Amino acid sequence: MKFCSACGAPVSQKIPPGDNVLRYVCEQCLAIHYHNPKIVAGCIPEWGDDILLCRRAIEPRLGFWTFPAGFMEIGESTEEAAARETKEEALADVEILSLYAVLSMPHIGQVYMVFRGKMVAPEFGAGSESLEVRLFPCHSIPWEEMAFPVVAETLRRYVRDADEGRFLLQLGNVADRMPE
Ligand SMILES: [Zn+2]
Repeated sequence: MKFCSACGAPVSQKIPPGDNVLRYVCEQCLAIHYHNPKIVAGCIPEWGDDILLCRRAIEPRLGFWTFPAGFMEIGESTEEAAARETKEEALADVEILSLYAVLSMPHIGQVYMVFRGKMVAPEFGAGSESLEVRLFPCHSIPWEEMAFPVVAETLRRYVRDADEGRFLLQLGNVADRMPE
């Protein structure tokens, strides 16, 4: 950050009084610009024992598979964001069942909140950000073509829980690096 988003003057990095972290502080209007993690809301849409995945039509990781997920917008809840992303990317309507995973990526300042969603009908298609959308049985997920480590980690845990017949809330950290 070089300029204040409030007044346009240059900013500098300082530790504000009472704080212990370097922040961008405006030299003119003294506004403190906090950079905090962003929430990515995701959904694993379920139809029977199958789950719905999308092949990305956009960079990064164009052509790789993910569940519907995206940054929350102001004015919506996490569940609403997860359902909206499912509608946008997979053209599917879901009833959000439960929170399944909260996975933090401290190095890039993102937190994934992934919900299980029950598809209301076996109807879906490729939204503008998807090349292809398909239902996958849990034993035939395309592990070699996962879009991001957090997607692979979430689905790995999900498949294990599906095998055991119960879903427990998953907490953890995921590195932001892509697999080798
Ligand atoms: Zn300013």
